[in-house]
Amino acid sequence: MLPTQYEEAARTLRVVARADVVVVGGGPAGFSAAVAAARQGASVCLVERYPYLGGLASGGMVLVLDDMCAGAEITVRGICAELIDRMAARGDAVYPPDAERGHDPAMFRKWSRWGVFDFNTRTKPHPICYAVAFDPDGWKRASDDMVAEAKINLRLHSLFAGSIVRDGRIVGVITESKAGREAIMADVVIDATGDLDVAAAAGAQFSDGAYMVTTVFRLGGVDTDEAERFQFEEPARYEKLDMAARKIIGGSWDYWWLKTPLPGIVWCNCPHMTGLDGMKVEDLTRAEFDGRKRIHAMVDHVRANLPGFQNCYVVDVAPQTGVRQTRMLEGEYVVTKSDITDRVHFSDSIARGRDYYTPYRALLPRGIDQMLVAGRHYSATPSAQKISREIPPCMAMGEAAGVAAAMALSGKTTVRNIDVKELQRRLRALGADPGDVASVYQPFTERAA
Ligand SMILES: Cc1cc2nc3c(=O)[nH]c(=O)nc-3n(C[C@H](O)[C@H](O)[C@H](O)COP(=O)(O)OP(=O)(O)OC[C@H]3O[C@@H](n4cnc5c(N)ncnc54)[C@H](O)[C@@H]3O)c2cc1C
Repeated sequence: MLPTQYEEAARTLRVVARADVVVVGGGPAGFSAAVAAARQGASVCLVERYPYLGGLASGGMVLVLDDMCAGAEITVRGICAELIDRMAARGDAVYPPDAERGHDPAMFRKWSRWGVFDFNTRTKPHPICYAVAFDPDGWKRASDDMVAEAKINLRLHSLFAGSIVRDGRIVGVITESKAGREAIMADVVIDATGDLDVAAAAGAQFSDGAYMVTTVFRLGGVDTDEAERFQFEEPARYEKLDMAARKIIGGSWDYWWLKTPLPGIVWCNCPHMTGLDGMKVEDLTRAEFDGRKRIHAMVDHVRANLPGFQNCYVVDVAPQTGVRQTRMLEGEYVVTKSDITDRVHFSDSIARGRDYYTPYRALLPRGIDQMLVAGRHYSATPSAQKISREIPPCMAMGEAAGVAAAMALSGKTTVRNIDVKELQRRLRALGADPGDVASVYQPFTERAA
């Protein structure tokens, strides 16, 4: 019989880096945390398993930044806004100008295929709102620039493999790479892996969440003008053919394709698959296999039937599987679904999403010192996370965690004991919106018909 366990021998590891703040995970949250901490004067090492920054935003090809406005008010600013500005300056980001946002069927026709409408409203057509379509390589380029300018020690191709904890305090992490296992020592560690890898390995409490998994892909050769004309001018025929396409792919939003800054290239947020665990190799492998099969079946269908798609082809399937939710921290405060839907305001709010607030306590694991958590695995119930995990709020959490880490070090205190009012003040001074002031809903300005 084959043995079911193997005992690994202990090894002595080389320490390859040492930093005030080590951030694990270079996705939206981790990138923001690293830049924020470095700009506050901390030495920062940013560890990422893949060869690029961006996480699901670039490697997962999730190509719309949303959940960053409440009606006419923009609620996520700071590093997120700066990254958008940098991408937009190179033509890598597209968003509707202020004057074209709001309830107007003509603007819906003009903008909806960019994915920049507020799908949380009940009114149809949904209002066009502040949201941003971007190019994944544009993200990589702009974030590379910001990380280099901040003089961050970036270590790509490095998979986090273990936490080093002494007397209840995290003091470093272990990575695995072509160079083998190596250690990186830290005063503060920020877990931005999205799956809580670092905090879980350090012994933090968590709950097991799960949500649908998606193998996102891009199509090229799409005549988007013709596809939009068909949708808006022949709605009955469009609905029938589009529905057939969605049936073949087996799991998608109504708007399964959206425009990107690259002409003729659309991103497809599908197929969605349920019942898979984003922490299991077997399930992730199945997602890739089944996803690709469904994608090619749908492409055959739309080529033959859907106006605008006759000459389309698969450009790429996202290199990173679209896992939305796995382990969720059970931290000093666990955000609930009603906290989000009732827009509960917290006096220690340090980040906002569309119209909800994130308390600093939701970034703090219980029982482990000098660790913060930022991103989609923050301390929330799985049902709360499903409606509060978009890219901009994760960036806002990351920025707050980065500033908090630097503040703890310069103030010679711990991340648990920092002055949160001072953190809010600093975030405001940096152009971010920590949500310290409860907001009043601002409707869109009515336009003359
Ligand atoms: C299919 C899909 C569609 C979505 N649609 C939208 C949308 O339209 N708009 C929107 O705003 N949001 C959307 N989201 C949500 C959004 O993409 C995520 O919630 C967001 O990217 C989370 O950011 P993060 O930094 O917390 O995590 P991630 O983006 O997951 O980044 C985590 C980073 O950590 C790295 N990492 C993980 N484990 C390790 C390890 N062990 N060692 C080293 N590095 C590691 C990863 O490689 C990655 O770079 C969507 C998500 C999915 C999956």
